[in-house]
Amino acid sequence: MTAVLVTWAFLVTGCSVPPSPPVTPPSQEVAEQTLRGIEVAVRDRRPDDFRARFAADDEALGRTADLWWANLTALDVTRFTLTAGPLDPAGAAEITIDWAVPGDSGIASHLARFSFRAGSDGAARVAAVAPAAAPAARPSWWADPLRLFRQGQATVVATGRVDQSRAGLWADQADRAADRVADALPASMRQGWTGVVVVELPADGAGYDRLLGGEPGSHSGYAAVAWAEGIADPRRERIAVRIVVNPDQPVHDPRALELLLTHEVTHLARYDAGSPAPLWLVEGFADHVAYAGSPELRAAAEQSLRDTIRSDGAPDRLPGDDTFRRGDLDRAYLLAWSACRLIARRYGDDVLNRFVVAAGAGQPVDRALRATAGIGLAEFRAEWVRDLTEPR
Ligand SMILES: [Zn+2]
Repeated sequence: MTAVLVTWAFLVTGCSVPPSPPVTPPSQEVAEQTLRGIEVAVRDRRPDDFRARFAADDEALGRTADLWWANLTALDVTRFTLTAGPLDPAGAAEITIDWAVPGDSGIASHLARFSFRAGSDGAARVAAVAPAAAPAARPSWWADPLRLFRQGQATVVATGRVDQSRAGLWADQADRAADRVADALPASMRQGWTGVVVVELPADGAGYDRLLGGEPGSHSGYAAVAWAEGIADPRRERIAVRIVVNPDQPVHDPRALELLLTHEVTHLARYDAGSPAPLWLVEGFADHVAYAGSPELRAAAEQSLRDTIRSDGAPDRLPGDDTFRRGDLDRAYLLAWSACRLIARRYGDDVLNRFVVAAGAGQPVDRALRATAGIGLAEFRAEWVRDLTEPR
């Protein structure tokens, strides 16, 4: 579609206010050529070509373009593509930005809005940029200077003010978590994962909310989340999953950090966001992998499990998906973990792994459990409740 609209500028005379320059929207084709120019400039690392695609007479826009350049090159982006929707009569369009950093196991995908202006040379310049309206997620490189911390298999992308030792600690622990998960999961359970972990470390809670999108505060109960940074569209390619840290829920104990990261990296390796499996299995399995490497923390979790059974009683059902979003999250996670732990204890880790894979592939849970452990879901649930209430 091509839309050309010419705005006539009327000459203003006898006044000290200078006339506004004529704003001429370009054609769709010419605007898209500008986007191609930006992509090639990023790909070939040519700062002057990049800068030349943005209107030169707008200082604030120039600062944004310079910040983007600095951030995108610091990130060492391996992919940066801009896809325009139809231009409106004023020369603005929705832009889909697909991008990736080294080691990403997919693409991150964000929406924005660019306005274009035709120049006298026949080319178009980007004249204004805006992130997609809230509550859409915003990419890390949009408005704050970034700093990167790399350690082995981990990349920490810190936004805004950076506590260097904190970023270094996350990088170190994420690198170790990558090793633990690679050791714990057979290769068939981590297909498509590069083995790299990208952690995004915002400076404050508002930055955390901007990275995740959605209603502010809707993820405030978590210390970190494994986050698929993309527009949910099953026809598109694999989405990059990164770990986004919540600065309002700091984790001070290094062992708790180890546990948290191993849990999140398990999600990353399994690519299980939006899995058809019930959350008790997805979350319980991630905790099972995390606790496996830490007998001390496992003992503490067992004590917490006994405490919750003593104070709130034994459950009569496996925790439903909504219990992982609100209410007593600790109890929901402990119960989920205890169910996975029981399967591993009674039938072995190999059976648990095969059950996780089958349910993750969309097999109904009862059928997947029968096929792998030889027991139906109702029978397993009864066994699990009995196990939780047995005195130890
Ligand atoms: Zn989780």
